[in-house]
Amino acid sequence: MSEMMPAAFIGHGSPMNALEQSRYTVSWSMFATTFSKPHAVLVISAHWYVNITAVTAMPVPRTIHDFYGFPQPLFDVEYPAPGDPELAQRIADVVEPTYVGLDHDSWGIDHGAWSVLVHMFPLADVPVVQLSINAELPFDYHFNLGAKLHALRSEGVFIVGSGNVVHNLRLIDWRAPGEGTDWAHRFDDDVREIMTSDASNLGTASSRRDYGLAVPTPDHFLPLAYVAGLSAAAQTPTTTIIDGYEMGSLSMTAYALAGSR
Ligand code: ZN
Repeated sequence: MSEMMPAAFIGHGSPMNALEQSRYTVSWSMFATTFSKPHAVLVISAHWYVNITAVTAMPVPRTIHDFYGFPQPLFDVEYPAPGDPELAQRIADVVEPTYVGLDHDSWGIDHGAWSVLVHMFPLADVPVVQLSINAELPFDYHFNLGAKLHALRSEGVFIVGSGNVVHNLRLIDWRAPGEGTDWAHRFDDDVREIMTSDASNLGTASSRRDYGLAVPTPDHFLPLAYVAGLSAAAQTPTTTIIDGYEMGSLSMTAYALAGSR
């Protein structure tokens, strides 16, 4: 019986988390010490939100600095992990008949991925592939696609969704570090109730009264749909790695789906 890798959803927050040490980033790096070094990492990042489902298939993915207005040191970050073209093809095969295109030259490793990976795998010695989030398709598509990735966990692939459960940049309050609004707390609590009991109910989160404020656009929420799909496929609820709020309208909650040896 081969080891089954854990999976995780990480609330990545500000790109500055790549450079800073905080209780969040310490929890991410500590979590990565709880399991064997994976053969590869598959990241579903909020920041590759496009009108197609694709997986990075280049041998040497570039580090993408997909933000502006941040200090130069953040633009200087390189995450030189190799790609894994074989894994990209395996992903395309394992999710059939769902179509996943092989991306040879468009994307790479975006900051939703590397701001987390620099803490989890600081040596950048584990191959990384990213799966895009198809913005054209509804929640159930993403949940079901996540469930189809289940088989990869026993093939040494660590799967991580990187987004934020509550993510409303328009309502950011720079005077509220470490704080969340009432509605942010309510929605994050609702989601946690689901993720730690039966993640197959995550689709019902969109009917909660705070959904519109917490999830004004689906990009940062949908990475959690993949982890919910994996959780349902494994018939194992997730546990909380860390929680917290920033600037009123961000939640930093992270979830782990346990592996097995
Ligand atoms: Zn983000």
